[in-house]
Amino acid sequence: KSFEDYHLSDEIKRALVLLKYKAPTEVQSEVIPKAMEYQDLVVKSQTGSGKTASFGIPICEMVNWEEKKPQALILTPTRELAVQVREDITNIGRFKRIKAMAVYGKEPFAKQKEELKQKTHVVVGTPGRVMDHIERGTLVLDDIKYLIIDEADEMLNMGFIEEVEGIIKELPSNRVTMVFSATLPKDVENLCHKYMKNPINIEI
Ligand code: AMP
Repeated sequence: KSFEDYHLSDEIKRALVLLKYKAPTEVQSEVIPKAMEYQDLVVKSQTGSGKTASFGIPICEMVNWEEKKPQALILTPTRELAVQVREDITNIGRFKRIKAMAVYGKEPFAKQKEELKQKTHVVVGTPGRVMDHIERGTLVLDDIKYLIIDEADEMLNMGFIEEVEGIIKELPSNRVTMVFSATLPKDVENLCHKYMKNPINIEI
C-alpha cells in the first residue's frame, strides 16, 4: 500500500511528506480510493486510526481553489474535534493554500461571520453553530460537494439529530456523504439510510 496508488496531486503528496505520513493506514487505504470515486461511505473506525486524513486527503484533492463558496462541510460533535480537524485539513491542504475554518459555539458569532465573508473552502463545525449560521444567512451551503459526519454516534448521543437533519436539508442532493462512527447504533443507521446513496460499509 502506498499513497502513490491514489493519483494524488504533487501539492498533496508534498504535504504528506512534510507530515511524515509514509504509507496509508488501513482506514485510509479503504476510504481514499472510494471517496475519490464519489462513493458514499459508512465507516466504523476509532480515533487514532488515521480517519481524519482518510477524508481530509480526498477533500483537499477535490477542492477547487478558485471557487468562493465552501465545497466541503465536516460536522463534529465537539469544538475540540472541530479545531483539530480544521488543523489537519489545513496541513494536508497547505500547498494548495486551502482555507479551512472552524465554527463552534462559545466563540463570538460576529467573529466567525467576518471570517466566513472571506473565501473558505472547507467548513468544520458543531451542528448547533452551523445551523445558527445557516439561519442567519452567514453560511451558504449550496456549493457543498462533500459532507462528512464525524463521530456520528457521539453527535446523536449529544442530542444533535434535529440540527444534523436541518443542515443536511440545506445541502445539494448531488454530493458525497461519509459517516464516521465508532459504533453503529440504530439512530446512526437510520440517519445513513435516510440521507445516503447506496453507501458502502467499511469496518476497520
Ligand atoms: P486520527 O485517527 O485522524 O485522529 O489520527 C491519529 C494520528 O495519526 C494523528 O496524529 C495523525 O496525524 C496520524 N496519522 C494519520 N495518518 C497517518 C499516516 N498515514 N501515517 C502516519 N501517521 C498518520
